[in-house]
Formats: sequence, C-alpha cells, structure tokens
Amino acid sequence: MVLVNLLNRSPGVICPEATLTAAIQELHHQHLPLLWVCGAEGQLLGFLSQSAILAQVLAHPSGFNTDDLRVGAIMFPPPAPLTLAELREDNDLQAWFTTHKLPLLPVVDGGGKLVGAIAQTDYAAAQLEAEKAAHQRSEARRQALLQAIPDLMIRYSRNGKYLEMLCGGNVQPLDNFPDNTGAEIWEVLPPNLASQRLYYIHKTLDSGEMQRYEYEIEVSPGKWCHEEAYITISGTDEVIMLIRDISERVKVQLALAQEKALMQSLIDSIPDLIIYKDLEGIYRACNQSARGLLGKSQQEIIGKTDFELFPEALAQTHRDHDLHALNGQISIRREKWITFKDGTQRLLEIEKTPFVDDQGMMLGIIGVGRDITDRQQAIEDLLNTLTKEKELLDLKSDFITIASHEFRTPLTVIMASAKLMRHCLDRFTPQQQAEQLDRILRSSDRILALLEDILVLNQADADQLNFIPAPVNLEQFCQELYQELMATQLNSTTVQFHYIGPPDCSVTLDDKLLRYILTNLLNNAIKYSFNPNPIEFIVTLGQHYIQFTITDQGIGIPADALAYVFQPFYRAKNVGNVPGTGLGLAIVKRAVDLHSGTVDCRSQLGQGTTFTVRLPRFVGF
Ligand code: ADP
Repeated sequence: MVLVNLLNRSPGVICPEATLTAAIQELHHQHLPLLWVCGAEGQLLGFLSQSAILAQVLAHPSGFNTDDLRVGAIMFPPPAPLTLAELREDNDLQAWFTTHKLPLLPVVDGGGKLVGAIAQTDYAAAQLEAEKAAHQRSEARRQALLQAIPDLMIRYSRNGKYLEMLCGGNVQPLDNFPDNTGAEIWEVLPPNLASQRLYYIHKTLDSGEMQRYEYEIEVSPGKWCHEEAYITISGTDEVIMLIRDISERVKVQLALAQEKALMQSLIDSIPDLIIYKDLEGIYRACNQSARGLLGKSQQEIIGKTDFELFPEALAQTHRDHDLHALNGQISIRREKWITFKDGTQRLLEIEKTPFVDDQGMMLGIIGVGRDITDRQQAIEDLLNTLTKEKELLDLKSDFITIASHEFRTPLTVIMASAKLMRHCLDRFTPQQQAEQLDRILRSSDRILALLEDILVLNQADADQLNFIPAPVNLEQFCQELYQELMATQLNSTTVQFHYIGPPDCSVTLDDKLLRYILTNLLNNAIKYSFNPNPIEFIVTLGQHYIQFTITDQGIGIPADALAYVFQPFYRAKNVGNVPGTGLGLAIVKRAVDLHSGTVDCRSQLGQGTTFTVRLPRFVGF
C-alpha cells in the first residue's frame, strides 16, 4: 500500500494518542487536508497533513506518482474503535468529508474484502485547476510584460553564439526574427555589425562593466533602424544584450537638434547681444554678438557664471542687476559703454527681463544689449547742428550789430568830409582840404579792412582759405612788417622788436597768413595799450618751432572772457570806446590752425596781455 509505504519510510507527524483527537479537531477546524495513517491492524498510527505529504513525496519522488500529491486520502480501517460502518455513520467525519467534497471510495482486497477506504479529493483537483489558472495568468502576465517591454534580449556566448532570445514587442531588428537561438553572430548580422557587436561583447566580459553603443541596421531592404544596445555580464563568458529601437527617438532628437540649430542661427543673426542665464546666474545660451563682445566661444561661456567671466566687482554688479530684475519681476534697462576685444568702444543699451515658463514659473533672465552708439552719435550730431545753427544765428545777429556800427561810423565820416569838401571847398585852405581827404581815406581803409576780415573769416569757415607754405626769410619778413606798422601807426605807443635766432634763416610758412596773424596781434596790442607803455615783439627761431610773443601793458582781458576771445565777433566788456569787430583773433586762430600751430593768451586785467604763437618750423613735412 503506497501510503503505508510512505509511513514506513518516514512516519510523518506521529502524534501521541492522548493528543490525537485534539489535533484532528484542530485540523478539522482549519480545514486542512489530512491523511490518516493506520497500521496493518487498523490502528491509527498518526496522520500527515498535505504539506507534510508533499515534503515526503518531494523527498522520494521515485516512489510516488505526482498525481498522488493532489490526493487527499484516508486510510481504512479507521482508527479504533471506529469500524467502517461506524465511520460511515460518524456524522462529524461524514460532514467533514462532505464539506471538503471528499467522496470515500471503498478499498477491497483480491477476495473482495473491504480493507479500507480512500478519498479522492475534489479539493485537490480544484487546487490543481486553480494552480493551473494561476500559472496561466502568470504566464499571460509575463507575456504581456514582455510584449510591453519594447526591448529585445539576447544572451550571447563570448564567441557570439545566440544562446537565448527574448523578443520584445516593438523591436524589429534583423536579429529578432526568426528566433536565432543556436546561431552564430556571423550568420545573423552583416559583417560590420557582427564584428562591432563582438567587440562590445568582449569589452563587457573583459572590463566587467556595462557597455552601450548605437548603430544603424537595415532591417528590410531600404528600411533602416537606429538601435541602441546595452550589454551586461550574465554569467561566465556570457552576456545579456538589450536592444532597443530608438529610430523614433533619434528622429525626434534630430528634429530637436535642427530646431535648436535654427533657433541658434536665428538669434545669431540678430545684431543685438542676447544672453540667457538661469536662476543661479549660469549662462545657458548666448548669440554670436554676445560671443563677439566677450571674445569667447560658446563652450567657454555656457555653464559659466559672471564671476568666471568678469572681474569680481563687475560680476557682482551684473549679478545685482539680475537679482534686482528677478526679485522685482521687472525689466530693467541701462546704458553702458563696453570695450570690445579689438579695443573699440560701443555704447550699449542693456535690458534684462525675467523669463517665465507657461505656468508662470521663473526660469531665469534674458539680457538683450543693443548697440546705440550710432543712435547716440546721431543725437549728438543733431544737437551739434542745432548748436551750430544757433551759433550761426547769433553770428548773423552779431555781424549785423557790429557791421551796422563799424560801417556806419567810417561811412558817416566819409559822408561828412565829402559834404564839407563840396560846400566849403573854396573856403578850405589846402591843408584843411588834405585833412578832409585823409579822413575820407582812413575811413575807407577801415571799411576795406572790415570787409577783408569778413571775407577771410568766411573763406576760413568754408575751408577755402588757401594755405600755401613757401620759404620765407623770417628775420627780414618780421623786420619789414614791424616797420610798416610803425609807419602807419597813429598813436605814440612804441614797439620793441627782437629777433632771436640765426640771421637770414629761411623758414617755410604761408607769408600771407603770417601777415594776418602778426598784424592783428600787434594792432590789438597797440589798440588796447595805454601810452606810452612799450610793446614787446619777440621772434624766436627754435630748432623745431618758431615762436612769436607779443606783450603789451594795456587794459588786459577779464579772466572770464579769455575762453571766448577767439570766437568771431566776440569783444570783452572792458574794450570801452576802442573800435573793433571781434574778427581779428578769430582770423588769427584759423591761420595758426592751418599751420598746425598753437596760439595762447595770458592776461591780467589792467596790467597787460601776452599772446604767444608757436608754429612748427617745417610746416607740411
Ligand atoms: P577787436 O576788433 O575787437 O579787437 P579781436 O578779435 O582782435 O577783435 O579781439 C577780440 C577781443 O579780444 C577784443 O575785442 C578785446 O576784448 C580782446 N583783446 C584782444 N587783444 C587784446 C589785447 N592786446 N589787450 C586787451 N584785450 C584784447
């Protein structure tokens, strides 16, 4: 008898009789499948729970049919004092068998004698069904899981033999279909891909580290897939390779990269500087102009903060501005002169604006710098033009005022003398006639001189004043000019002329312009001097410069007027009745400028004035 045999081999859980009933009841309560084990005489030897049977059967599989595992059995004769009849009539047990759907099957010997009973459990069958169903469910789940995983798994030997394949749902690589288990890698893949894969298999096995690589594979004629592979060690000289079709991802990445490149070239084509920093102040993007300003490449800027790109103080200013804009959630704008790497300086208008996502979450700050140098220059030019126009208007007004006075005075003199001559000519002595004629001539000269001054200044302002340098004997030229002046000069002021330099030395100058310069300065010195204080006219011929110094001890020039005396029509307030137009020094200045020289004026009010003119000795060289 099989079960007795089991008992003989291993007694299972043998309980002392005293506790047997309690144990059985307990097991009944727990609805545990139970095997009663009886001796040959029908006496109860003990019982085995189903799990105990299972353990026994597993320990001795050869002695049992696995079907027995699913049999809950009861061995008869039942434990004394029960007889078979009594067993049949035992309500409790009957009820228990009924509850557990354990039909009792009679067991008879060869002579038809009832020797016991065995129960085939529906319970076991139901459990089997349940187990089967659970297994099926689990298998279905596993399949679903595998289907859900888009990856293909291949187990390879070191030399590239396909040991096992587990095909994921979506992968359509060349080595997915058919099942290549048992095949060699060279039989499945094109040579280049096979050797590449072998290389990574070996690398994985040799390094012990997971490898990843990507490749393109032609899965059907003309149809290419982009795949990525991860390889890990799975056992001695074996690897597991996980292959994933990333064609879509690569396509998306490509599209993203193209979009990014398009965006980059768009912002690069904008002449304004554009930068983007995150909340920590790290540069995340910048355009061509910004790179030009910083004189750095994209790689040198992206990922850096201002503190890595600029001196500390400047970086702190930038950061403060950023935080000001970020914390206040406002745009801030300022103008700043920036020196570019090539040394050029440009005025930038910089606007910083916080950058938020579509949920309103603050992401960083966008800075746009616009070069407004030209705009600023245009504004300044416009202002200059306006100022010049105003100056011109003032000049016209000054001219009218001065001219009306300066022309009227000599013209009045001329007319008065002419009338006198006409009406009283016969009564005038020859000397009186000569005096009247002299007055007419002097007044005419004065008008002519005024017209000449206006003409020269006009030519100078229109850049039409000719500058024709030629060799001049400096000492001789100055000497003659001095004597002419002395001959025509009316008041008794004396001029002391000194020439310091090598005699008869020739210098290169425009003698006409030099005449304007010296005549005006000397005439002014005489005009604004008190008799009899002498005037000093010193000409010094240096190695590189010719210097003319004219010093008087006259009325002097008020300090606040010194800056204006070279402007046309300007006259200081202390000139009193001394006639003049305010044009002489303006002409001097322009004539000196044409020689690339300098003119300087020093004066003490009421004490005198010194004008110093320095002209380069070799003009035009
Ligand atoms: P003006 O015809 O009035 O002399 P200038 O252009 O020659 O015109 O001189 C401009 C002004 O400079 C004069 O009006 C005068 O106020 C001042 N000035 C020039 N030279 C002298 C000088 N030697 N002494 C005092 N003031 C002078």
